[in-house]
Amino acid sequence: MTTSWTGPVVPLNSGATIPQVGFGVFKVDPAETEHIVSDALELGYRHIDTAAIYGNEEGVGRAIAASGIPREDLYITTKLWNSDQGTTSAHDAIDASLEKLGLDFVDLYLIHWPTPRRDLYRESWKALQQIQADGKTTSIGVSNFLVEHLEKLLADGGAVPAVNQIELHPALQQREVVEFSRSHGIQIEAWGPLGQGKYPLFVEPSVTGAAAAHGKTPAQVVLRWHLQNNNIVFPKSNSRARVAENLDIFDFELTDGEIAAISSLERDGRVGSHPNDLN
Ligand code: NAD
Repeated sequence: MTTSWTGPVVPLNSGATIPQVGFGVFKVDPAETEHIVSDALELGYRHIDTAAIYGNEEGVGRAIAASGIPREDLYITTKLWNSDQGTTSAHDAIDASLEKLGLDFVDLYLIHWPTPRRDLYRESWKALQQIQADGKTTSIGVSNFLVEHLEKLLADGGAVPAVNQIELHPALQQREVVEFSRSHGIQIEAWGPLGQGKYPLFVEPSVTGAAAAHGKTPAQVVLRWHLQNNNIVFPKSNSRARVAENLDIFDFELTDGEIAAISSLERDGRVGSHPNDLN
C-alpha cells in the first residue's frame, strides 16, 4: 500500500503489508453495510474484512466506490465459504466475490474454515494459489485452522499462508496455534477481538484498571492489548461512535504488567464454533 493509512502495518510473507487495524462486517445487515463502511472509511479505516457468507460484499463494494479512495490505499479481505471448497467452486466463488465487491482483485483471500469432514481444504488451498497467480488476490491465507490443519497444508509444500485468522481475545488466546503459525511466518488475525461482546471482558479489573490509568475505554484497552501482541484486528460495531473509538488506540501504551494481567484472563473462553465442529 502507498497510503493514506497512518496507523501501524504488519508485513506478510507475500511481500505485502496489511494495516494492523481494520473494520469487520460480520453480522452487519446488508442494507446497512454501505452506510457503516462509508463511516469507517471516512473515519480513517483502510482495511475491511468481509466474507462471501456475510452476504454484504455488495454493500462493501458500494462504500468503496463511493469513497473515491484510490484502490492502492485500500486493503480488502474476503473469504471462500465452506460449500464452495474444491477447485472449480473456489474459482467461481472468487469471481462472484469480485463482482459483488466491484473489484478486479482483493488484497487477501482466505479459506474461511477447514471443515475437516469435507476434507477439501488442501485442494482448495491449491486453488487459492492459482487464484493468486491469476492476479485475483495479492495474498492468500486461511482462517480457523488448528495446528493439525496447518501441518497438512505445509506438508504439501506449496505456498505458506500469509495469515491465519482465528478467534482470539484475552479469554481465548490459542497459544499453541499462534506459536505454530508465527514459527512458520504466518501472521495472526484475531477475530472476535472483543469477545463479540459475549464475554464479559469489559468488567475485568485488569481491563477497567488499565482503562482508568490511561484515560481510555475498556474496549480500547483490549484492542491495544492485541496490537502490542502483534495481532491484526478488525473490530465490528454498528455505531459510528464506537467505530471511531476502536480506531483511537495509537496514542497510548500498556505497560508490561498491564499486558501480563490481561493475558492472565485466558480461560478457554471460546465464543464461536470449534474449527473441527463446523463442517
Ligand atoms: P468483535 O469482538 O469485534 O465484537 C463485536 C461486538 O463488540 C459488537 O457487536 C459490539 O457489541 C461490541 N463492541 C464493538 N466495539 C465496542 C466498543 N467500542 N465498546 C463496547 N462494545 C463494543 O466480534 P466480531 O464482529 O465477531 O469480530 C470482528 C470481525 O472478525 C468480524 O466482523 C469479521 O470480519 C471477523 N470474523 C471472522 C470470523 C471467521 O470465522 N473468520 C468469525 C467471526 C468474525
